[in-house]
Amino acid sequence: MAHLLHPYIRMFQTTVNKTIEFSGIGLHTGSHATVKILPCGKDKGIRFIRKDIPHAPVIKAKAKNVVATHYSTTLGKDGVTVSTVEHLLAAFYGLGIDNAAVEVYGPEIPIMDGSAAPITELIMEAGIRELTQPRRYLVITKPIEVRDKDKYVRLLPPDREGERAFTIDYTIDFSHPYLSKQSFSITLSPAAFREEVVSARTFGFLRDVELLRENGLVRGGTLKNAVVIGESDILNEGGLRFPDEFVRHKVLDLIGDISLLGVHIAGRLNAHRSGHTLNHALVKKVIKNPETWKVVEFVEEELADVSPQFRTALATA
Ligand SMILES: [Zn+2]
Repeated sequence: MAHLLHPYIRMFQTTVNKTIEFSGIGLHTGSHATVKILPCGKDKGIRFIRKDIPHAPVIKAKAKNVVATHYSTTLGKDGVTVSTVEHLLAAFYGLGIDNAAVEVYGPEIPIMDGSAAPITELIMEAGIRELTQPRRYLVITKPIEVRDKDKYVRLLPPDREGERAFTIDYTIDFSHPYLSKQSFSITLSPAAFREEVVSARTFGFLRDVELLRENGLVRGGTLKNAVVIGESDILNEGGLRFPDEFVRHKVLDLIGDISLLGVHIAGRLNAHRSGHTLNHALVKKVIKNPETWKVVEFVEEELADVSPQFRTALATA
């Protein structure tokens, strides 16, 4: 089997090599927060810990803990939440970090420059540590899709038997004179993720800002942490980081959302005009439909089907 592996397919789980710390303002709440990312052991997954709250409640980065998907993804448990987790989760997935404890001193992960680049660089500086437990891959075996009118997101089996790559094809199509259709494809690897996805920033339309603010959203939003699209141009002086920065950012969001499956994916994902709500609906549908996938891990350099154990873990996690 080993000959079918891409160089970036890891056999073993990982964590960060040392503690990482950053602070900033949340995009939606406008609240200041400090975040510490700590190394942790195998099979822990990604866990958020609200250190600013008595008894420091823990919220696992799992699909069942998603409590809101309106303009960002919020995780919560027993009434305690942490919001705008998607860019940090995308950084973990994209770089291949399976386990980490994320201590948060505030209600929302800081938006930084609107992209995942600052966090990704901090993780790269800290380094990635390999653990002894095999990493699991969820291999799509049958197409599975969620749809909302013309919007959809679907997972398809890998192009070749034995393939472990995760390829994303994404199309956005807005009815706006400046931003209409953009498409982007990527086969994920840490290098491709860093070069093509991490620096794409959050964006929004000027026409929506007032309504969003009235609804208590984007209170921390500025031209320093979001691309704002006016009638015929963007308002940011420095311009765009990529001509198709918008669709690349949607791919970043999607990676963060899909990572809530808690396992690396082997297959192909097609998305058309999707967002956090539809992405999360797909994750839930995948969990509910185990006939559409299997889970494999390396046992002495051979891939073994561990789907039954994984299904049990999913049901009880
Ligand atoms: Zn985003």
